[in-house]
Formats: sequence, C-alpha cells, structure tokens
Amino acid sequence: MRLIIMGPPGSGKGTQAKLLCDRFGMTHISTGDILREAIRNHSPLGRQAQQFMDDGQLVPDNLVNDIVAERFRRADRPAKFLLDGYPRTLNQAEVFDVVLRELHVTITAVLALEVPDDEIVRRMSGRRICPKDQSLYHVTFKPPKQPGICDICQTRLIQRPDDKEETVLNRLKQFHATVDELLEFYRRQNLLREVNGLGSIQEVFASCLASLQAGKDQC
Ligand code: AMP
Repeated sequence: MRLIIMGPPGSGKGTQAKLLCDRFGMTHISTGDILREAIRNHSPLGRQAQQFMDDGQLVPDNLVNDIVAERFRRADRPAKFLLDGYPRTLNQAEVFDVVLRELHVTITAVLALEVPDDEIVRRMSGRRICPKDQSLYHVTFKPPKQPGICDICQTRLIQRPDDKEETVLNRLKQFHATVDELLEFYRRQNLLREVNGLGSIQEVFASCLASLQAGKDQC
C-alpha cells in the first residue's frame, strides 16, 4: 500500500496517517515533521524553512521537492509508505510524479479528508504539543492528565506557533489556494478518495478504510 493523505491543517490527517501506517505497515513520511526536526536541529534547511512555517506560509516548492526526492531516491526507500502533507501544490505533485515514474513506483490511492473551516479553527486553537517528545494533546478532545503538562515526560506543553489563530487562518487560505488543482490532478488519475473528516478518530478511520476498500473493488 502506497498512500498520500491530504486535508486542511487540523483535519486530523496526522492522526489518521499514524493509524493507517500501523494497520498496513507503511512508513510515515511527513514533510511537516521533517521540516520541524530541521528547525529543532538548526540545520540549513531548518533556517530556510522557519520563517515560512511560523507565518503559516508554504515552504517553497523546490525545498520540499528536494527533501522528498532525496528520501525516495535512497536505496533504503520504503516499499510501503504514506505521505502526509506532501504534495501540497500542483508543482509538487508533478515533480513527485516524475520521481515516482523514474523509480517505477505507483500510488495506490490519495485520501483527501474534508473538514469545514470553522471546525478547523475550533480544533486547532486547542492543540498543544510537548516540545520534548512531540506528543500531541488537545485541551478539549485529548487533555493531558495534569493541565498543561505532558503525560509522558512531565514537560510543560506549548502551542505550536503555526497553531495560533491568525496563523491557522493563513494556513487555511494557503490550503484553499492550492488544493483544487491538486484534487483535480489526482481525480483525473482515478486515485482520489474523498473522506468525511468529521466524527471521532475511529469513525474517520473507518471511513478511510471503507474508501480504500471501495477503490480496490472498483479496480
Ligand atoms: P503540517 O505539519 O503538514 O501541517 O506542516 C506544517 C508546515 O510545514 C506547513 O504549514 C508548511 O509551512 C510546511 N510544510 C509542510 N509540508 C509542506 C509542503 N509539502 N509544501 C510546503 N510547505 C510544507
């Protein structure tokens, strides 16, 4: 299974990505995680990406395309993978297509989670992260045992700069500016599976599985 998962920021795509990876034994490749790690490590990539991310802007295509192409061209590239947060623009999708064709790899399906903007803002303003072990919490939906403190390592939780309301609105604007042509790109290849992203984590997961099954039945 080789999947791409898409969805607005805060649609729960990271959570669904992890569940799908566990279910199908795929390697989770998240460009957001790779970029955040680069920022934590103060690497040249991190220095180039930081301002874009803090402002809720997309990191330039060439930077992200290079990260992904490098990962896929390595001899140890995963046979089964789930890409989370990439591609995000038509240019990224086209460049990635060339990389895949060169490697004779095909995509099984593209899952697109659908969540309305007002729900996104409600969800993201409550999101908290542990700066040490990166565990995710939510003040309403997944509160830590002790308010503001990580259950695992007792570190004080923070709000990611790109989860602040103004930044969330910027990220949503970005998302809508690029998503339609991206969806169309995968719809034309008959890879697109649109999934209702409202409901509990398990309900959305069940919808993801059902849409993958439906796609298989069609083939
Ligand atoms: P995410 O964790 O996927 O929501 O990504 C967090 C941030 O990383 C985004 O708001 C962008 O600034 C940056 N980013 C992640 N993936 C990409 C991508 N494919 N293209 C451009 N920027 C990206």
